[in-house]
Amino acid sequence: MNYIVFDLEWNQSPGGKRWSNSRLPFEIIEIGAIKLNEEKEIVDSFQRLIKPQVYNWIHDSIHEVIHMNYKDLQKGTLFPQAITEFLEWCGEEYIFFTWGNQDVMELQRNMKYYGKLSLLKGPVTYYDVQKLFAIRYEENDERRALEFAADKMGVEKKMDFHRALGDAYYTACILQKIEDKYIFPNSSLDVYQNPKSKREEIHISYPTYDKYVSREFYSREKAMKDREVTSTKCPLCHNPAKRKIRWFMNNSKVYYSVSLCQEHGFVLGKIRIRRTEDNKYYVIKKLTNVTDEEADEIRQKRDAHRAKRRLKKEEQ
Ligand SMILES: [Zn+2]
Repeated sequence: MNYIVFDLEWNQSPGGKRWSNSRLPFEIIEIGAIKLNEEKEIVDSFQRLIKPQVYNWIHDSIHEVIHMNYKDLQKGTLFPQAITEFLEWCGEEYIFFTWGNQDVMELQRNMKYYGKLSLLKGPVTYYDVQKLFAIRYEENDERRALEFAADKMGVEKKMDFHRALGDAYYTACILQKIEDKYIFPNSSLDVYQNPKSKREEIHISYPTYDKYVSREFYSREKAMKDREVTSTKCPLCHNPAKRKIRWFMNNSKVYYSVSLCQEHGFVLGKIRIRRTEDNKYYVIKKLTNVTDEEADEIRQKRDAHRAKRRLKKEEQ
């Protein structure tokens, strides 16, 4: 099994949102990657500049950070070829590691744009080294910048930050300093290629919570009427926990509930509704065992929400 640590640099519409291509808001302009074996020894590297096809100039804010010339990109590889070469280089069996949770998604969005998404089977399980670093070394699981983590781990700075290969290299060095027992129980799942049917739905148990990703629905309301979506099982024993606070919407995207497991106490439910590019909806549900105090916080949130709604009604 190859461990592939990769990093992307991307560009966005230089003329602002108005001129952005909604199918490709972020155009990848560089892929950098480090290959490690299962002993986490570095065995190879990969780097390609990508010749842009969508945005014809580098956005100022990106230019400030990555110091890359548009001219240099003209010598780059076209994305379809670069992604094919990259995935071939990854080998027969590989797992992705990245710093943060955006790269796996943007990689797929660019692949879809060029009709190459079939090269990568989704949903994609990967490891977010920024998250793993937080779990292993930070209080309160705080997410840190790559340079901060590299400094803290005493990594020698011999490459540029904010270039794909350099960032992949530093991420690999940090990964080397995290023990396997902190890595493998804490995978991440990218659902850009979300489940379409009941059969493809996802149920995962993590050390401290359960996660569920539903199939697609035609509306948010339909999703929130589904029994599987709204069910609340205790993450510890997987027995149904009795609803104490019904699902309520805190803002336009997040729903909460609180249930009680006879044996393990309160279970917090959290549902996020995501819209797909085809205007369908799916939910990501997280169920976590919580303390009495945390359950009470949700009750207060619910009461505040109710009071606000009542006020709104009276004003009408
Ligand atoms: Zn239980």
